[in-house]
Amino acid sequence: MRSTDLLQELIRFNTVNPPGNEGPALEHIMSFLDPAGWDCKFLAKVPERPNLVARLKGVEPGPNLALISHVDTVPADPEEWSHDPWSGNLADGYIWGRGALDMKDQVAAEVAACVNLARSGWRPARGDLILVVAADEETGAHFGAKWLCEEHPDEVRSDWVLNEGAGELLEFDGRRLFTLSIGEKGTFRFTVITEGEAGHGSIPRVGDNALLKLAPALSNAHRQPPHESTPDTDLFLERLLGHPVEDTDAALREIEAIDPLVAKLLADPMLGVTIAPTMASASSRENVIPSRAELVIDCRTPPGMTEEQVRARIDLVLGDGDWRIEFNDPVVGNRSDYDGPLAEAIEEWVGLTEPGAEVLPQVMPGFSDSHWFRKAFGATVFGFAPQRMSIAETKPLVHGKDERITVEDVELMENLYTWIPPRLLGTAES
Ligand SMILES: [Zn+2]
Repeated sequence: MRSTDLLQELIRFNTVNPPGNEGPALEHIMSFLDPAGWDCKFLAKVPERPNLVARLKGVEPGPNLALISHVDTVPADPEEWSHDPWSGNLADGYIWGRGALDMKDQVAAEVAACVNLARSGWRPARGDLILVVAADEETGAHFGAKWLCEEHPDEVRSDWVLNEGAGELLEFDGRRLFTLSIGEKGTFRFTVITEGEAGHGSIPRVGDNALLKLAPALSNAHRQPPHESTPDTDLFLERLLGHPVEDTDAALREIEAIDPLVAKLLADPMLGVTIAPTMASASSRENVIPSRAELVIDCRTPPGMTEEQVRARIDLVLGDGDWRIEFNDPVVGNRSDYDGPLAEAIEEWVGLTEPGAEVLPQVMPGFSDSHWFRKAFGATVFGFAPQRMSIAETKPLVHGKDERITVEDVELMENLYTWIPPRLLGTAES
C-alpha cells in the first residue's frame, strides 16, 4: 500500500479535537493492519475516543520498538484555505489538508510501513513491533497516550519509541542537518495575583487598586531568564556550529549571524526558561476599582527543571512586588539520552539516505506524547519524521492555513519507518 494514498484518505476523516471523533479513521487504519497479520486492539477511556494499539510479536523476547502517532487535529477555517482542509487534494506536488504535517503524514507513513512489512512476511526476531495511533493529543492526551501509558502499561510498554517532533532537513552554513527531538520542555504556566481593595472608579484615592500593583510584573515580563548550558544544549550547539562551544550566548550570536530564523525558532527557546504573558484580568466593571488582578504567563522550562528552580528564575525576571505566584498544573519536562541502538540506527539511515548530512538532537519548546512514554517506561523516545521541506516553510503551516506536505516527504518518512524495525528487531527465520 502507498502511504500517500492513505494520507489523502485520513485527511478526509474530520478528526478536529474537540470532539476528535477518531473512531472512523482508526477503523480505516485497522482495515489494512488486521488482514496483514497485525494483532489489533481498540482501547478507549470512553467509547467515542478510541486508541489503536497494534502488535507484531517477535519470536524471542527483546526490547520493544513502538511507532507512535496521533490522529486528532486542531480546527481549520475553510474560508482561509486555498484547498478545502478535509479534501486531501493532491496538487502542485503537495497533499493538502488539516493534519498533513501534524500529524496524519506520519500516521500514514508508519501504518503503510507496518502493513507492507507484515505483507512481505517480515516478523521480528526478538522484541515486538508496536504501533500506537492515539486519540486526543492536541488537548492534553486525557483520552490518548497519557491514559494508555497510565491505565494499560502492558499494552504499550516499549524500550524504543519513534514519535513526532522534528525531522526537518536544515541547510546551515553549508552543511545539512536533520533535526531530531530528544525531549520536550516542561510547562509551568503561572498566574501572578495581586490583591487590594475595591472602590468607586470616580474616587481613585478610595480603595487600593490591585491592577496597578500588577504593572511592574507585566513591564518586567518582556525580559527572559538568562540562557543556561546543559549537556543537551552543548551537543546541539556543537553539532549545529560544527565546532566546540565554550560560551552559550556567544554561540547563539554566531548562529544569529548565520541564520536568524534558526536562532529564533530552534536555538533560543532551547537555551533556558522562557516566559510569555498571555492573559490578564482585573475588574469586571469599568467603574469599579479592582480588589484583585491576575496576569497569566506561559512559562516553558528545560527538561528536569523543578518547581523551585523555575521559581528562582521567574523571581529574577519579575523582581519583587506585592503579588503572589501560583503554578497551574505544572509538568516537569523529560528527555532521552541521544545514544544507544535507536540513535545508531537513525545515524546509519541518515548516512544511507542523505550522505553527508548529520543529525541535530534538540529539545522541542512544545509538548508531545513522547513525554508519557518516557515517564511510564523510561523509554528512549525520539521525535523524528524526516522531511526535506524547510522549517521556514513548515512552521507557519502547522496549526495554520494551507497545511500541506510534499509527496516526496511522505515517502521519505515511509522509507525510514520501513527500514528501522528490521534493523532494530532483526528478521525472524521463516
Ligand atoms: Zn501533533
